[in-house]
Parts: sequence; structure tokens; C-alpha cells
Amino acid sequence: MFVAVDDTDSVRGNCTTFLATEIIKELSDLDLIGCPRLVRLNPAVPWKTRGNGSLVMKFGHGVGKKRFIGMVDDKEFYCYDDSDNYELDYRSIMKRLIPITEKYCESDANAGLLISSQRPDVSFYKRGVTTILSREEIDREIDRIGALTYTTGNGRGLIGATCGLAWIPEDITFELLAYRERERWGTKRQYDPTSIKKMDSKFPTTFNNWEDRTGKVAIVPSTPCPVLYGIRGDVLRDVIDAANIVKTEKIYRWLVFLTNQGTDDHVIRDAKELVSNRSYFIGGKVVSKANHIRGGHTFIGISTKYGVITCGAYEPSKEFRFVFDQLIPDDEIEVVGEFREYPRTLNVEKLHVVSVVRCAEKISNPICPICEKKMNSIGRGQGYRCKTCHTKEKSAVVQYRSRWIVPGWYEPPVCSRRHLSKPLKRMGLEQPIEFIKR
Ligand code: ATP
Repeated sequence: MFVAVDDTDSVRGNCTTFLATEIIKELSDLDLIGCPRLVRLNPAVPWKTRGNGSLVMKFGHGVGKKRFIGMVDDKEFYCYDDSDNYELDYRSIMKRLIPITEKYCESDANAGLLISSQRPDVSFYKRGVTTILSREEIDREIDRIGALTYTTGNGRGLIGATCGLAWIPEDITFELLAYRERERWGTKRQYDPTSIKKMDSKFPTTFNNWEDRTGKVAIVPSTPCPVLYGIRGDVLRDVIDAANIVKTEKIYRWLVFLTNQGTDDHVIRDAKELVSNRSYFIGGKVVSKANHIRGGHTFIGISTKYGVITCGAYEPSKEFRFVFDQLIPDDEIEVVGEFREYPRTLNVEKLHVVSVVRCAEKISNPICPICEKKMNSIGRGQGYRCKTCHTKEKSAVVQYRSRWIVPGWYEPPVCSRRHLSKPLKRMGLEQPIEFIKR
């Protein structure tokens, strides 16, 4: 039996992942089959609260190996690799979950809770993570799989719940989420940054923990939600061991989620056309140098198979904008980013400098090889001629300027990365050079 839920929180508080821990606690007479899943969907959805995440859990009678994945109210939680065919009474389970969903749902949220024996077609995940879906097509799929639903507000959360449930993991990561004691929700979080730095260097399979250059902690949110921190990584056991060395205020509960974070699943390659509110991988040649606007945002133009596109690197991406500053016309690049209609720009979240052109600067007119005197220009683009002996020369004397940018992949600092963006670390790459603001 699958339980999926989305859209219970708002910027004021709550968190759908915390509700997942409450659901697991409520259904502790059943076994969790596989890790609970935190499935991020299209980050360009205009009505998301923060990271567009939906939550999916499978319950049943566990068989096979069981794995330790969390502590909820001093009780150890395990998940099983598989389940038997034991039939559950979905309606009575829905009755148990409705009061919990209502309790942890913000009044202006549009919650969707789904209980189903079947997953929706996998295409719903692919479309949910890359495009915008309508309620009508989701409702048709819910009817097809015969799922039970409960909603609040306009029930839009059913879109995320359905698309999250449709995820068949390929590339996967884990996130250990630690939660604060209730009475501390909304107050300043207490933690020791040096323990987080230590954890980051001790566990190379974790990512997006810490920003080395600025010494900024990236695992602790600043929102009033119940989350104390989240440690992301490739290996389940490692995120648990990593959490053991992080020093913080008292942890109320913690749980490891299987996620699609850091996988680039939201990126569309080889698209026929560009549609707004989707993210693309696009190759092109730089056509215009960096243009800066108020607020610290930087733009460049690139010529692509879709025409000339303006690429934006916004202020929160900090030093990443300096990559734009170093690009000049004819440099070949590939960009990953969200395409927006107004203003028509691609918000770049990762950039590959494929090749850079040599940059020639004219030093002087050429010297006549016979008379040893400076030649004169014949006209724009027509070369040079010696006034005395009429010898011709095509080009001026030039000097090649050093280019600071070098081919390779570049990404924004940890704190301004998208949940779904695959960090260079997970791609087995390192940024070739760092830009530093003085
Ligand atoms: P948090 O990450 O803090 O849990 P959130 O960013 O997930 O919050 P929600 O409040 O859940 O934000 O809002 C996202 C809304 O967008 C949900 O109602 C979800 O069902 C809907 N949604 C998700 N993906 C799509 C999509 N591809 N097309 C249309 N709607 C979507």
C-alpha cells in the first residue's frame, strides 16, 4: 500500500516531510517497505512553496532484510526490502491519516493525500519533474489506478502526490532530515559549524553540506519549519554516520529519505522547442559580453539552435556570475537552466565552458618589411599598404590577451543550488578555477 502526500505547508511553517514522520508513527503497526521517498518535482512550478517536494511511503508486512533508517520519538525505525501480499484495509487507514494530515496542514495549503495499491504510469514522474501538469489528467490517472484521496483547499497537492508516486528510481540519493523539538520551532537554530565542516570532509559521499570558501553552513534551513538540518549523500549508511558527528541542539526525531535530489532529473535535453517553466540543457556560442543590471544580476547572449537566448546569473549565485564576466563572443558553452517567458531568459544553474576563443588585441599597424616604416590602413577590413613602396599586408600587429576562464564545468555556491541540480561532485568533476570576490 502506497501513501503519497503533498502541499501541506506554507512559508509560515510546517513541512510535508515532518508530516511523513507522523504518518510513519501513526502506522507503526505496519512495516515500512523501502525508505520513505522525498521526490522533488519541477522546480519551475510557479505555485510551489519552496522546493516542490512530494512524499511517498509504502506500508505492508515486511519480508527480507530490514535497514535502520531513523529514530522517531526514541523508537528505532526500520524499513524492509520487500513485502508479502497481505491485504490492508485502505479505507480504515485513510480514516487514521486524515486527522494527522489536518493537524499538520497549514490553513491556506492545498493538500493532496493519496492511498493506492498501484503506482501511476512512470510518465507522470517524468512529466511532473520536467513540465507543468493539469489537475484533469492527474484525476484521470487517479481514477485509473483506483486510488483513495483526501484533499484540503483546491487539492492541488494531488498533482505532486501522483507524480511523486510514479517515480521509479534510477539515479538516487539519500537525505537524512533531523527535526527540532516542538517548543523550539520558529526559534534560532543552535549548531556547531565546525562539526559540520568536519563531517563534510570526513564523508566524501555526502554533498552540499558546506561552502569551503565562505565557511557557510548549507545543511541548516533558515525557514521557521521543524527541520533542524538535512544531510545529503549517495550512501544511506554514510548519511547516518555523518549525522553522528554533527553537534546541534537536541534532535527530536530523524529519518532518512530516498530522493531524486542532485540528479538533474528536471533537465530536458534535445528539446524541439523551448517552453517556459521547464529546465533545459542547451549548447551555444556566446554572442554578447556580460551585461549587468541593478541588483547584481548578470546576463549574456548565446546563439543556439533555438535562436539567440539571454542567459541570466542572478545575485544569489554570487561568484558564479564572474564566469559570465569572463566570456566573450564565439566562446562555446553549454548551459543548464530554467527557461522563463517574461523576461525571456534562461536562469543558469550550471555552465560548461566547452572552448574559449583566442582574444587578439591590436597593438599597432604592420611595419613594411622593405621600408621598415608603419603601413597605413586602406579601409575597414581591407588591410594595410606602405605609403612609399605600396607593399600590402592583411593584418595589424596583435597581441593575444590571456583568458582567465578555462574550459570545464562551473556551478553556483552550495547555498544557491537547486535541490535537483546534480552537483559537479556527483558528476565526478571539479570546477577548474574558483572566482573570488575581493
Ligand atoms: P516544500 O518543499 O516545502 O514541501 P513545496 O515547495 O513542495 O513545499 P507545495 O506547497 O507542495 O510546495 O506546492 C507545490 C504544488 O505544486 C503542489 O500543489 C504540487 O501538487 C504542485 N505541483 C508539483 N509539481 C507539479 C507539476 N509538475 N505541475 C503542476 N503542479 C505541480
